[in-house]
Amino acid sequence: MRIRLFRAVLCVVAAVAGQAAPVLAAPQPDGVDPRIVKLLEQVSEPRMLQTLTALQAFVTRNTLSSTDQPTRGIGAARQWILDEMTKASPRLHVSFDAYQIPAQGRITREVDIRNVMAVLPGRTARRLYVSAHYDSLALPRRNEPTGAGTSGARGAAPPAQAPRPETPPAGAAGAPPANLDGPAPGVNDDGSGTAAVMELARIFAQSGIEFDATLVFIALAGEEQGLIGAKLHAQKAAAEKTRIDAVLNNDMIGNAAGGSGVVDGERVRVFSEGPEDSPSRQVARYVARVGPRYVPSQRIVLVARHDRFGRGGDHTAFNQNGFAGVRITEANEHYGRQHTTDDTLDGVSSAYLMKNTRMNAAVLASLALAPAAPTTVDDRGRSHAGARTLRLRCESAVGRLFRGGRLPGLLARGVDAGLAARRERRRRDAVRHAGRVD
Ligand SMILES: [Zn+2]
Repeated sequence: MRIRLFRAVLCVVAAVAGQAAPVLAAPQPDGVDPRIVKLLEQVSEPRMLQTLTALQAFVTRNTLSSTDQPTRGIGAARQWILDEMTKASPRLHVSFDAYQIPAQGRITREVDIRNVMAVLPGRTARRLYVSAHYDSLALPRRNEPTGAGTSGARGAAPPAQAPRPETPPAGAAGAPPANLDGPAPGVNDDGSGTAAVMELARIFAQSGIEFDATLVFIALAGEEQGLIGAKLHAQKAAAEKTRIDAVLNNDMIGNAAGGSGVVDGERVRVFSEGPEDSPSRQVARYVARVGPRYVPSQRIVLVARHDRFGRGGDHTAFNQNGFAGVRITEANEHYGRQHTTDDTLDGVSSAYLMKNTRMNAAVLASLALAPAAPTTVDDRGRSHAGARTLRLRCESAVGRLFRGGRLPGLLARGVDAGLAARRERRRRDAVRHAGRVD
């Protein structure tokens, strides 16, 4: 009976497909969407170069630099980013996402942290983010006197370590280091990501395409002091139960020539948090699948880590608040330039930056045009997303309690047993629902 019914359904499907075939447009090779191809063509290398030049011209975009000068410091820079995105299109809702925060950690005085965000409303409220940090940092070199820079007490030399949120503040509290207004060009870190975010905001808003998802183009501040702008924004989004489906965080995507002398303008890395089946890792796989479809000369290197060893980035602040997000970074870092006054325009390849921006555009547009992911539930009717958020919160709380140390033996065994039980449950579910296990 079932087989007969199945055959009948097949016949109907075949008949409908046969009739429909002549009116369908010719299939695109490899599922390429012509609207997205056209969108990618709008990414302008000269314009991105102009953006980088302008960002460098602010001399410093240190989060603690001046905010009262018209052409120098973070105040002038954020106003310029806001004005440029506002000018790009009336479809963009551009605003400062501002927070007044007291002295803490690397923040040596009360400061006004402002992310610059441009929202392109879609048919639905679910959001997709593309982010970068526009603040910059230059540490003193090995032989320079320490104590004068933002983090001078560390006397760090290349390869410079990214600031870690748990590191104690540099210098005496209440006595800001002297050269916060000193040069910190940050053209690659992360002027490159900022230029990409601004260019993407422009081309998506001007495309005339109506996307299913709402797109958020956000330039974050306070990254170098411990992901502060991203943390505050992600916490607020979690508290307000904003649905963020994915975050593409671009941090250093313009440097093709590494410190080793190797030039690699063909590859870009995508970092994602585990476990293997986490939504963030699925986003990373999606980037690897869709990116090269539209930018064939670019190879995506998936890295099964939340970030580089000992380093951090803004996507982690989103991950810690239960949102899927990945870090996109050049294949070949130049540690000698990072966090120094040498992070200048001549260290950036605009052609490489343009390719990475196009790759972002392809992924973002594909995700934004697609319908939302279905909400799946387990055999007890619980939403996977809900269970995952709860698990992330637990892991993050446990991580905070035991930071820097190992979990006590009993707790570690408990966590392992819990994970093994979860894996077994999933395997049984897979057998039940699909009749097989891959
Ligand atoms: Zn950075």
